[in-house]
Amino acid sequence: MNEYTNLREQMVATQLEGRDIANHKVLQAMRTVPRHRFVDRSLWSQAYDDRPLPIGQGQTISQPYMVALMTQCLQLSGDERVLEIGTGSGYQAAILAEIVREVFTVERIPELSQQASTLLEDLDYRNIRFEVADGTLGWEKFSPYGRILVTAGAPDIPTSLLQQLNDPGKMAIPMGGAYYQDLMVIKKEGKKVKKRHVCGCTFVHLVGEQGWKQ
Ligand code: SAH
Repeated sequence: MNEYTNLREQMVATQLEGRDIANHKVLQAMRTVPRHRFVDRSLWSQAYDDRPLPIGQGQTISQPYMVALMTQCLQLSGDERVLEIGTGSGYQAAILAEIVREVFTVERIPELSQQASTLLEDLDYRNIRFEVADGTLGWEKFSPYGRILVTAGAPDIPTSLLQQLNDPGKMAIPMGGAYYQDLMVIKKEGKKVKKRHVCGCTFVHLVGEQGWKQ
């Protein structure tokens, strides 16, 4: 076992299984994806710590627990096509790609999208598609999606995302104020849209037409 495999095992045991992450697919994905590769080499030794880390451009890779929790909330079977808003480092996209059929990920900052797609290709992921755009408008072309995961904090649910969610479908999204949000799971079923509060959280802003203004 190399050094990072060890750190990853410890991360899964203490930060995930030690809390409330029990979904086997999620735990297996978190054991597999080499999180250190998604941050700058100078941060590799901290990559498995219980916290978010900077990824440049003022953005962050979420804390491992938050990535696992959001993924668990989506209750994935493995057949799904998932839309992710906020590619960032590409780490969450890789976790999803370990579990589901196809991942569509949208990022507004071109440099981050480019870096993530290069890395994920290098790591041999073949089921992720990248787009540089305002993700508050979703990615109409491949809609509807069985699941949508928003990894930046929104003032409200972008209506485009709700429209592009399959019926039935589920979306996880951090929503609320500029400095503090609530992780919500939105369930679309027939004419009904149900919201469930999961926990408090802090994410960088979802900036766009149906998000925060610059
Ligand atoms: N999922 C990422 C976390 C990235 S942080 C990871 O695993 O590393 C949130 C990301 O959302 C940032 O990269 C930010 O640039 C991006 N973002 C913010 N507003 C966006 C928008 N409207 N459309 C697409 N991406 C957006």
